[in-house]
Amino acid sequence: MHKLVCGYLNIFPLNSHFNFSPMKRFLFFLSCFLILSCSSSKHNKEELDKLAEKYVRLGLSIGQYDADFVDAYYGPDSLKSTAVKATSFPKDSLLQSVNDLQNELKSFTGTNDSFQQRANWMSQQLVAFSRRIKIFSGEYRPFDEESKELFGVVAPSHAESYFDSLSKQLDGLLPGSGTTASRFQQLANHFIIPKEKIDTVFKTAIAEARKRTLAHYPLPAGENFTLEYVTNKSWSGYNWYKGNFHSIVQINTDLQIFIERAIDIGSHESYPGHHVYNMLLEKNLYRDKEQVEISFYPLFSPQSLIAEGSANYGIEVTFPGDEKVRFAKEVLLPLAGLDTTGISLYYKMLYMKGQLNFARNEAARGLLNGAIQEPEVLRWLMQYCWMNEETAAKSVSFIKKYRSYVINYNYGQQLVRNYIESAGGTENAPAKRWELFGKLLSTQVTPQELQKK
Ligand SMILES: [Zn+2]
Repeated sequence: MHKLVCGYLNIFPLNSHFNFSPMKRFLFFLSCFLILSCSSSKHNKEELDKLAEKYVRLGLSIGQYDADFVDAYYGPDSLKSTAVKATSFPKDSLLQSVNDLQNELKSFTGTNDSFQQRANWMSQQLVAFSRRIKIFSGEYRPFDEESKELFGVVAPSHAESYFDSLSKQLDGLLPGSGTTASRFQQLANHFIIPKEKIDTVFKTAIAEARKRTLAHYPLPAGENFTLEYVTNKSWSGYNWYKGNFHSIVQINTDLQIFIERAIDIGSHESYPGHHVYNMLLEKNLYRDKEQVEISFYPLFSPQSLIAEGSANYGIEVTFPGDEKVRFAKEVLLPLAGLDTTGISLYYKMLYMKGQLNFARNEAARGLLNGAIQEPEVLRWLMQYCWMNEETAAKSVSFIKKYRSYVINYNYGQQLVRNYIESAGGTENAPAKRWELFGKLLSTQVTPQELQKK
């Protein structure tokens, strides 16, 4: 809008052919003035900030009812709802508010880049608000439609034969007899961290991830996290970002924890994973640019695709190539009091197993679409994702609670990897990779932008 008005002014007033009558000239300037005042009052930062406040208020209102919706909020208390919670979920009025706000944001289309970026980002987040409101009210759509609206993408589909043939290719690499999955489990069982060593091993892995991250990013002074161990959760780890550069990282100890999880969960939740992502957003967008919308992080939204994808990709940025296995062998296994025999083969198989993990998306897609039942989901998870029985059961409870969220981990990681590496941030160019990755963690990138790469 600004650009149009300025272009119009540049054409006429200073031009020698400008020969309107005094009255016409007056009307011309009056109309320019009105256009300018209208545009500057409607498309300035203050106006967009007001819509951002509405966005936060609306998200927090949904969170009054849907306890899983708000993942983090560290913005002003004044935006928290003071209204008394209704006795029933106000689905229709919330949907109407989402729709109204989406319409208001539309007026920022075509404005300057940073306004448009913010408005577009909020609009896409609001699509997810609508879908989540409907899900919370028991209104479901097919898996792909749900993931598109909640997380902005549809994950690729693979037939069972794809996982079957991939699994068979890996079969010859494992010693012993029995199924591929059972032989993998026999190998993995050598690397279970004893309960009493879990804290030391996790703290050491996280400290290493932090040291490596700090070598590339100047993290905010005073940043810190609290590490806690919890039980009875459907997830294996969780980062609760509290604002002011502080997180609570929780590790679930319900199940046996294998050695690779110390780096994988530790780094994913902390450095350069969720803790760093949230801190960089708080520092660069909320504090430096006063973008209040970023202080509210709705779990079921496109932002989670970026969060989970980057937290997973960050592990390979921090421990590239064989550095994970080397660190496990030289530091973590001795700390855990475990023998290192077979660790190289184990890590090789873990890498291969990573290629199979899209099978969990298929299991979730089948279960949510009603195409398969729980026993079949368990079979998929054990046969193709090589999970043991207790991990598979836990994974089913995760799928039931978080639904299509599962795609954020693997498909999100794939999209983030493509985005960074197609711009030159490959393993062979680590400085460039850290730089591009840091930029991704500091801006309002949408899944659509990742997919353009
Ligand atoms: Zn995560």
